[in-house]
Amino acid sequence: MNSSRRPTGWLSQLTLTDDNGETVGGVIDHRLTRRALINEFRRGRLRREQLCDAHPDLVRAAKNFGDATGVKCPICVQDNVALVTYVFGPRLPSHGRCITKPHELEEFRQLAQHTEQQRNTEYSTDQSSSITYTAYVVECCRSCRWHHLLRSLPMATAPKSDTESTRRRSRR
Ligand SMILES: [Zn+2]
Repeated sequence: MNSSRRPTGWLSQLTLTDDNGETVGGVIDHRLTRRALINEFRRGRLRREQLCDAHPDLVRAAKNFGDATGVKCPICVQDNVALVTYVFGPRLPSHGRCITKPHELEEFRQLAQHTEQQRNTEYSTDQSSSITYTAYVVECCRSCRWHHLLRSLPMATAPKSDTESTRRRSRR
């Protein structure tokens, strides 16, 4: 089920759910909530200011590091939304670490899987606390500041797909 449907953009590797919105490999998809919000907006029950209030840091991240998409913003329908990923986990800031370079995500994934393997050997009975790093993918419109959490996924349990064949050594 590991299709690379969206060839452009390095964040597309996080697109792990299929078009039916099913949960795959621990990924939680928030698209239903998103659709509900958009419906409320179109029915006039939510105002634009209630939806388009992205934090300046998020808008800045979307402009500078965001992964461009071909998806039109559902609110202003002028600009395309950009995807921004934050990683939460041990020794990271409480507001998460914004992923600014493609290799950072891969490094976190490897770190998470390494930690996971260690935990599995040391505390094999305790699976619930084994999630160490979680990535949150947020969509953000750089024009009207619409934003919404798209999905969250534990990095250590993400399907390995073809990371072996595409693995690159990061040089320091
Ligand atoms: Zn917009």
